[in-house]
Amino acid sequence: MTIVHRCILALLALMLNLPAVAGAPLELVPGTRNVALSPHLSYRHDQESSDRPEDAWRRAADGAFEPLPGGKDTFGFQRGAFWFHATIVNRDPSEPRWLLVQEYPLSDRLELYLRYPDGRVVEHVGGDHVPFSARSVRYRHPNFLVDLPVDVPVQLLLRVKSESSMQVPLQLYTQAAFTEVSRDAQLAIGLYYGILLALFFYNLVLWISLRDSSYFWYLCHITAFGLVLFTLNGLGFEYLWPRSPWLADHMVPISICLALVAMLQFARIFLELPERAPRLNVGTALLIGFFVVFGVASIWLPYRVSTPVASRAVLVGVLWIVFATLHVLRRGYTPARLLLLAWSMFLLGTAIFTLLAFGVLPKNFATEYGVQIGSALEMLLLSIALGYRYAQLRNENQRITDEANRQLERNVAERTRELQRALSQLEETHERLRDSSRRDALTGLYNRSYFHEGFERLLAQCRDARRPLSLLMVDLDHFKSINDRHGHLVGDDCLRWAAHRIGRALRPHDALLARFGGEEFVVVLPDHDLRAAVEVAEEVRRSLVAEACESQGVQLRVSASIGVHTIAPDAADDIDDALDTADKALYAAKANGRDCVRTSITAA
Ligand code: GH3
Ligand code: MG
Ligand code: MG
Repeated sequence: MTIVHRCILALLALMLNLPAVAGAPLELVPGTRNVALSPHLSYRHDQESSDRPEDAWRRAADGAFEPLPGGKDTFGFQRGAFWFHATIVNRDPSEPRWLLVQEYPLSDRLELYLRYPDGRVVEHVGGDHVPFSARSVRYRHPNFLVDLPVDVPVQLLLRVKSESSMQVPLQLYTQAAFTEVSRDAQLAIGLYYGILLALFFYNLVLWISLRDSSYFWYLCHITAFGLVLFTLNGLGFEYLWPRSPWLADHMVPISICLALVAMLQFARIFLELPERAPRLNVGTALLIGFFVVFGVASIWLPYRVSTPVASRAVLVGVLWIVFATLHVLRRGYTPARLLLLAWSMFLLGTAIFTLLAFGVLPKNFATEYGVQIGSALEMLLLSIALGYRYAQLRNENQRITDEANRQLERNVAERTRELQRALSQLEETHERLRDSSRRDALTGLYNRSYFHEGFERLLAQCRDARRPLSLLMVDLDHFKSINDRHGHLVGDDCLRWAAHRIGRALRPHDALLARFGGEEFVVVLPDHDLRAAVEVAEEVRRSLVAEACESQGVQLRVSASIGVHTIAPDAADDIDDALDTADKALYAAKANGRDCVRTSITAA
């Protein structure tokens, strides 16, 4: 409630332009448990920081001190030292000792002088330029145990010199009240870091198992941001660098830069900016570069310069990320939705805290720990977003794998069809090759080797069916003289012509015709007895002499002598016997004046 009153008073003072009731002695009436000092403070800005305590006491007595401007105890980043003065009268006999707490942990050096009416002056020093062990109570905020005898006005003079923001949110607590307040605060802070630690280890395990770099940057972000708040809460000085004023000062800008580098890099990877928004990606990379350079520079830069720049840059960084998130979200990247919610939580928490600092919102658990609550929610949501994104990626991977499998199946089917086509083409080619290997190149008739195959097969079939099979040996007459007279090319034409004529004559007879060699042909007639075979032989002979063969303008008469032999179903003739016998018949035909048919019987 005191904070609310303070804010109202400050607002009223601002609106009515009234001077604050500063300077009025602070009376600690019985029952008071804690009280803010600022309404009772007057101050003087010692720009050159040249005043000694005596000078300050004198100036305070001369009325050179002024009330706090607008009642506010925050002055921002300032040069020189500030002196604050107040008079305190303790009316509570049960509380002779009080704890004065400077509820801002980053002040460099605080010098507290308490002057009692007997002229005695008690001195205390504090701040993060004094070792932590010098504190009255081991606590993250500088504090001083002060004796306030009952009904005695005690003059308080506080000199503050700091590179950090000039703030004096001084509170006086009874020891019991401080124990309660600090316990609550410690619980809240413990909860916060508990959440952060849980999220850290949870995501650490995920990073180790998934090896997704966005988890790594998330871990960096959570660590660096934890460090920022650890420093700002005064816990860094308490636990991590209790003897290092240098770190106490420089850790603020350095950790802020670290947190922003990790946060921007995390956003860059999570939002897939290189692929989705190349221009925003370049902007993000430049911002990262700026924070890296600035983080390194803040090792040397004075704290007064680096911290305000770094804390303003936080807002720029977060707004930039929100902008990038909105951009990617508008383009339909759904995992960005959770990210946007996360950053909004962070901004909301920070805004609430800022509004509290400006006195617009009342001080309560939610407002005082706005940044913590906001950032804890932010990091929780970021962790959920990571999980969501991982699920999305996995689904996308599954989809791609399924699609690839389907494509593979299509390809396999296509290749199988192609292979089948190629195989059947090969089969055809093979068939053609086999056929051409069976044929004679000049006449196109079957050759002698195929004749042997065909003959064996037909002979076996006829024997199985107990049917006769006849064989004709056809030899063109005086063929040598055709070659001799008209040349080999004319001879070839005659051979082709004769082959064609013989083939045509045999067409109705289901015969096997082959060129046996030179101008000699052989015919197999299944199911033909001798009489039928002689008839066919006569047809063949007649078909040759029926017309003249014409080649190169020359009319040529071509005749043939034919020997016929029939193998009875029960005869034991083999192919050589049969050919031999048919040849004898042919020889008889030749001997009988050619252009005639003779059988093995008539020949014998
Ligand atoms: P015959 O009536 O006694 O059978 O007399 P012929 O001249 O037909 O018999 P011979 O066996 O003495 O001669 C066969 C001739 O056939 C010899 C060869 O010049 C000819 N000849 C064999 N094969 C071919 C060929 O592929 N092309 C040509 N142009 N002539 C061939
Ligand atoms: Mg011959
Ligand atoms: Mg001949």
